[in-house]
Amino acid sequence: MTHESRMLIDGKLVESETGRQFDNINPATEEVLGGTADGTRADMERAVAAARHAFDHTDWSRDGEARAAGLRQLQAALEAEREELRGELIAEAGCPLLSTFGPQLDVPLRDALSWPADMISQFQWKRTLPDKDAFGMGTLAEREVWKEPIGVVGVITPWNFPLEIILNKLGPILAMGNTTVLKPAPDTPWNATRIGRIIAEQTDIPPGVINIVTSSDHLVGEVLSTSPLVDMVAFTGSTATGRRIMKAAADTVKPTFLELGGKSVYLVLDDDGDISASVGGSAFVSMHAGQGCAMPTRLLVPNSRHAEAVEIVKVAMEKNKYGDPTDPSVLQGPQVSRRQQDRVMGDIEKGKQEGARLVTGGNIPAHLPKGFFVEPTVFADVDNRMTIAQEEIFGPVLSVIGFDDDDDAVRIANDSIYGLSGVVFANDLDRAKSVAGRIRTGTLGINGGLWYGADAPFGGYKQSGIGRQCGIEGLEIFTETKTVGWPKETR
Ligand code: NAD
Repeated sequence: MTHESRMLIDGKLVESETGRQFDNINPATEEVLGGTADGTRADMERAVAAARHAFDHTDWSRDGEARAAGLRQLQAALEAEREELRGELIAEAGCPLLSTFGPQLDVPLRDALSWPADMISQFQWKRTLPDKDAFGMGTLAEREVWKEPIGVVGVITPWNFPLEIILNKLGPILAMGNTTVLKPAPDTPWNATRIGRIIAEQTDIPPGVINIVTSSDHLVGEVLSTSPLVDMVAFTGSTATGRRIMKAAADTVKPTFLELGGKSVYLVLDDDGDISASVGGSAFVSMHAGQGCAMPTRLLVPNSRHAEAVEIVKVAMEKNKYGDPTDPSVLQGPQVSRRQQDRVMGDIEKGKQEGARLVTGGNIPAHLPKGFFVEPTVFADVDNRMTIAQEEIFGPVLSVIGFDDDDDAVRIANDSIYGLSGVVFANDLDRAKSVAGRIRTGTLGINGGLWYGADAPFGGYKQSGIGRQCGIEGLEIFTETKTVGWPKETR
């Protein structure tokens, strides 16, 4: 597999100013795949200056047709390298092949750039307000509200759905007329550097509009929060890092768009006669080793059916195939790094210490000596106040929690600092919708329905974030608002 090691700064593919590279490690085999430019703060500052210049001194922000054409060119070129992207994603993120046919690759490749490109001509760039005599002096003013690009957007992304998150940020940011600097996670740099090479070599997107800086140093990304040349930071990652970014952005009063962690529920209401299918579906939590921010990791079941539910989910989790992510029948690959594996094992230990009952899993699998694997794990008799029910584990770990009635279920669901996603099941759709309306979370799947797509706003309530990615809300967030008025008579 040929990868791109270089960054994209001001339209050129470049190594780091130091010439140094950092290793990209395959989490399923622990092999070093190769190197990537180890960008510095100086590299980041050059990228920021290039994005600033492209915004201030080119027609990019005003030329919607060029932007739509650029996005479509990029999409076509990415599609032409779809299989290389697939192989690279599996190798560097450890995501199972299965996941690349959905949100990990094929779905965003279809709509993450094309939907925003289509929306450039449909977006409400301008709206008219009624004429108004604002000071009561007999002078009517005509008034309009204009939407304009916000400017230079700094983008910082995580490793779990690296390409999906990058494309769903670049699409709306570029469609709305902004320029950008992207800092991908060091664990998964190659899907980003490949995008950089494609932009440089196969699109007419002007130099400086998109810059991509890779680095092993997380703090290189901090320049995006502090630089007065950057107008906004768009971040996806952990809540802890989101807080740091917000604090760092405060000095320049920079808006922050944050997609953070979650501790979502999978709620099966008590009117559900046969719960085997609904409860069994919760075992999907081990997909991509549980490394999804929207994963419903708390299974809420009626206390009267707790034992039955635990048995169902135990069988389902034990059936989940885990191991080599290139195997098409595998649902769960490795954790992305040794550090993540250690964190997940630490959380499992905490669950045991705090008195949750380990039903299955809980170990590093002995038959997989290489790679950062963790067994699919279920805890039962979990109290929602326990650490495993409150903190995001980001591993293949499900906690089963009992509730008394709908009110109790809603109370437990909302007893969290997070509010990102969730699932509700009930025989009666109206009842499911009514309960869904009471859960304070940004997205919810009802009775197995999926909400996902480039046109669907995604984001969190509470400490799961600020703002929405995708959908009309995800376009608006990358705009500024200007209100203008002029005397009616003078026209
Ligand atoms: P992370 O917060 O450790 O890192 C994310 C990115 O931030 C990386 O690029 C990292 O290099 C960078 N970073 C770290 N410290 C920084 C700092 N001080 N300043 C600037 N940048 C910094 O998160 P992660 O471990 O890569 O990803 C997992 C987390 O992401 C989970 O908490 C998960 O829930 C969350 N996530 C959220 C969503 C969502 O849309 N809500 C989607 C995917 C992942």
